[in-house]
Amino acid sequence: MSILRVALDVPLDTLFDYSSEDISPDDVGRRVLVPFGRKQRVGVVMDVVSRSAIAPGKLKAVLHVLRETPPVPGDVLALLRFCGGYYHHPIGEVVIGALPVALRRARPLARRDPQEYRLTSAGRLADEAALNTREKAARKLLTGFKQAGRLDRTAAIQVTGSAPKILKRFLALGWIEAAPEPASAVVASEAARAAGSGPTLNAAQREAVETVLREMPGFTPWVIHGVTGSGKTEVYLQLIARVLGQGGQALVLVPEINLTPQLETRFRERFPGARLVVQHSGLGGSERARDWLLAQQGQAQIVIGTRLAVFTPLPDLTLVIVDEEHDPSYKQQDGLRYSARDVAVARAKQAGIPIVLGSATPSLETLYNARSGRYRLLTLPDRAGTSSLPEVRLVDTRIHKPVDGLSVPLLEALRERLGRGEQSLVFINRRGYAPVLACSACDWVSECSRCASRLVVHLRDGRLRCHHCGHEEPPPRACPECGNQDLKPLGHGTQRVESALAAALPGARILRIDRDSTRRRDAWAGMRNDIELGRVDVLVGTQILAKGHDFPGLSLVGIVNPDAALFSGDFRASERLAAQLLQVAGRAGRARAPGTVLIQTRFPAHPLYQALCRHDFDGLAEALLAERKQAGLPPFAFQALLRAEGTTVRPIMEFLEKAERLARKPGAPVTVYEPVPAAMPRLAGKERAQLLVEAASRNKLQAFLSAWYPALTALNERRVRWAIDVDPLEI
Ligand code: ADP
Ligand code: ZN
Ligand code: ZN
Repeated sequence: MSILRVALDVPLDTLFDYSSEDISPDDVGRRVLVPFGRKQRVGVVMDVVSRSAIAPGKLKAVLHVLRETPPVPGDVLALLRFCGGYYHHPIGEVVIGALPVALRRARPLARRDPQEYRLTSAGRLADEAALNTREKAARKLLTGFKQAGRLDRTAAIQVTGSAPKILKRFLALGWIEAAPEPASAVVASEAARAAGSGPTLNAAQREAVETVLREMPGFTPWVIHGVTGSGKTEVYLQLIARVLGQGGQALVLVPEINLTPQLETRFRERFPGARLVVQHSGLGGSERARDWLLAQQGQAQIVIGTRLAVFTPLPDLTLVIVDEEHDPSYKQQDGLRYSARDVAVARAKQAGIPIVLGSATPSLETLYNARSGRYRLLTLPDRAGTSSLPEVRLVDTRIHKPVDGLSVPLLEALRERLGRGEQSLVFINRRGYAPVLACSACDWVSECSRCASRLVVHLRDGRLRCHHCGHEEPPPRACPECGNQDLKPLGHGTQRVESALAAALPGARILRIDRDSTRRRDAWAGMRNDIELGRVDVLVGTQILAKGHDFPGLSLVGIVNPDAALFSGDFRASERLAAQLLQVAGRAGRARAPGTVLIQTRFPAHPLYQALCRHDFDGLAEALLAERKQAGLPPFAFQALLRAEGTTVRPIMEFLEKAERLARKPGAPVTVYEPVPAAMPRLAGKERAQLLVEAASRNKLQAFLSAWYPALTALNERRVRWAIDVDPLEI
């Protein structure tokens, strides 16, 4: 009998012991079905041992060993253990949370239809004439197979729309069979051939590719800092081509995949012979699990995915790429609050392979790491091809007062592009019609009953909506405080700017792009198509538009209302604003026409805007780093946040005060701040507060947390939900 230590999805930082007659040390990583309380759960075997602290009579037996999928490999388990330890999060939640949803269940995966079929010898002998004359489609398909020998599903469907049914019949008749996957040697040679395609690299790109290749194999964290459109993606593609040529696998992390299908297409086109799979949380059912298993079996050479893809098993992993490494969406904001970028670096280190962090606006953390020599910096200073960086100009809104968010210089510039048949983009980082509904007679404003936030006016569907918890309600007819009927939307959102543009530019084709208009699946693909075909004159949208898109016809970017972030309480707000504005600005003038960017601001002298005008990201980053150093903030300090929430404030504060007393040990190497309400003190009906601790080094912080976390657990707090957020992005 063996004793297994099993990770289960429960909020306790421990493994659970079970017995089994049917398991060996080779089964570490295997999924098992076990009894837990009155239920059954799927767990992952983390260890096979000979002894348990539980008396042998009390040890429960595993119900079932799930052998139809291979065990999670040791390197991924090691990475998950590292995450559990580094982020101080229950190990079972870490391990089970990393699995595709379909693998968290005991039910076997639904079978996938084979993707390619080949003719059998029986099929070769089969006579079309044997098929009924009315079965024209079946005859056609059989002829098709005889000509080509093998057909994939898509090709078969092109021969006849009723192919799916006929394929089943042919399979039953033994005329065709599922074709085996192409051998990886074939893929490798295909991929190597692809390395020759694509544009000829410019000097900076070539230098970047060669430098990375020269240091391979071995762990080196590279930062590619290249201005927007400098050809970073082209560098990734060339590196991947080399990796595939050696029979390796590449992992590519992206912030958002639904919004950047262009990137996926570009990869598929460049490596038609390789198998590329996508991993993101939107993939339903068994799809993600199947692709995960393909990667695990070495049959997928390229994995592109969002943050969760960092845990994909890849036996031949040779290179990791993190595109747009500065993007805050790499940080998970609930459950295991990990940074996929940082975990990717840990993974590359563990695997002894290079990792490339690319961005036009690298995060200050990453720049600092590059300066201190932990990471190595490669620079692409110019745009690739023929386009050049856009001219950035400021519109002083104290002089040019905007009406409905739009100033006269911006409107004039828009009219000029319309006249020339060029596209423009108006960027405003707020969706909805207006951020709030207000009473003109008293100081009532529309507030969410469940959050400490305001309800946003969505005029189009006549609703007030909370962008934090999703609560919505109809707007009141009169002020709930004073009965006044004159309620006004205050401020501007994308819908309001869209209406204002429609009024100011009659006949212009305007397209609004924000989370509301792209909610429907595939909506964005259709919009992109319209933009590419020149069926749109003016795009109005939120930061969705900042994410890596290439709009060849776009020559003007107008930025409405960016000032609020300059005075935010969040010390990262300026860094984010600068990155966002540079990224949006980078959409202009990427191909045909030279680009112009107009920023409407009340503070044209502000150093941030002045630096943007000079495209001086380095200078800006330098200044921001100096500020952070002065203030003792990250990356010059290392933080962790104890977040707590509950139904009432008192128990939360009592818990945090206890936590504070535990933390304030004499001689402790950390600064402990006072418990305070969270930036959003009420969210979805829950009260929230937090306690910040800070240390001068990562090691000191980790040493402190390793003692504090078990002490917090031992408090056995039942009224409050709490979690530690290591390296928090939002405080
Ligand atoms: P980034 O990822 O830095 O935004 P891309 O790799 O997408 O840049 O390149 C921007 C544009 O320039 C693309 O249209 C790409 O095809 C083109 N491009 C990239 N490298 C070259 C090159 N060496 N010569 C010509 N065009 C290039
Ligand atoms: Zn009122
Ligand atoms: Zn709310």
